[in-house]
Amino acid sequence: MSQQDDSQYQLETLAIRTGHTRSFEGEHAEPIFLTSSFVYENAAEAAAKFSGQEPGNIYSRFTNPTVAMFEKRLAAIDGAERAVATSSGMAAIMAVAMSFLKTGDHVICSRAVFGSTIAMFEKYVAKFGVGVTFVDLTDLNAWENAIKPETKLLFVESPSNPLSEIADIQALSDLAHANGALLAIDNSFCTPALQQPIKFGADLVVYSATKYLDGQGRALGGAVVGNNKLLEEVFGYVRTTGPSMSPFNAWVFLKGLETLRLRMREHSASAQKLAEFLNAHPKVEKVYYAGLPEHVGHELAAKQQTGFGGIVSFEAKGGREGAWKVIDNTQFISITGNLGDAKSTITHPATTTHGKLSPEAKEAAGIREGLIRVSVGLEDIDDIIADISRGLDLI
Ligand SMILES: *Cc1c(COP(=O)(O)O)cnc(C)c1O
Repeated sequence: MSQQDDSQYQLETLAIRTGHTRSFEGEHAEPIFLTSSFVYENAAEAAAKFSGQEPGNIYSRFTNPTVAMFEKRLAAIDGAERAVATSSGMAAIMAVAMSFLKTGDHVICSRAVFGSTIAMFEKYVAKFGVGVTFVDLTDLNAWENAIKPETKLLFVESPSNPLSEIADIQALSDLAHANGALLAIDNSFCTPALQQPIKFGADLVVYSATKYLDGQGRALGGAVVGNNKLLEEVFGYVRTTGPSMSPFNAWVFLKGLETLRLRMREHSASAQKLAEFLNAHPKVEKVYYAGLPEHVGHELAAKQQTGFGGIVSFEAKGGREGAWKVIDNTQFISITGNLGDAKSTITHPATTTHGKLSPEAKEAAGIREGLIRVSVGLEDIDDIIADISRGLDLI
């Protein structure tokens, strides 16, 4: 299916059909081109390809047919002109920084982003003389007050991890554009199946494909999505410096996209049921899930998202002891820091993903000792609820 046809199709169709290029064997499934380089009929063809006069593949650090299929499909379902695949989610975020920032520039980033994103800006991007200010993602005044003449990038993750706070994407894109900056969103939690940030004015969308785009915990990858002009910069950076996606991983993600909408719907429906169950449970202090009407971000999430996603966090009574009781009494839910998998996972943020924060920083970020994060998988929801209840009933 060619790019021109895309507008007439819905996301489910695009996610299964876009970008498929058959080889001369006429195979039905997408082929994996496990090759580092490509050969030519003669010297003239090689010269034409290398000079860019003729389109075509040269070397898989630059382009690869399987990776290109994944990129086309992801861009189509995100309603974007182009995507560039990367070797991991962090490689995608670094590609944004390296493509659009230079010495003297300034970034505003929401405080509740993925831990490595914070470290990347503070430790590595800062080495090149780029300043960063961290703000509360829901506080528009804080974003506005942090703007400086040299601000070039606003970076946000919404919904946030683990508390499901929601950023107003349209308001942030208006603010960025009024000040000559770009807005980049880490959309790994919602995926294009639940949120298309470009519709609300975001310039760049980044993914850890490792999470829901794969959905079965098999491979590391990432992507940057946006318009042709911005993505040409990102492509130049990736092809030159090398954080390219492997063709095998691209194939895994390509097949992942085919079931993305179905999976995200099921993750969301199950997460909603779990959140409602926990909300009514006497041993639970508080539930953080934007699908609950009393969540502060509920209305905004309902406006920008078509589902509330698969991540539910809650505070068990009894602090750390209570939380660990719940975690340790599960029978099949995986105790791990990872998320976005068919397998449900359970995490104690205060001692794992956010364990390095000082007690004050944890308090400021709302990471209490009783907090538990569940990535609701695709197992039967009644089984998931029973697995989490076992420990709750012992508190
Ligand atoms: C996991 C994750 C990342 C980093 O992705 P990797 O593929 O592990 O490099 C970035 N952002 C979010 C929201 C994530 O969950």
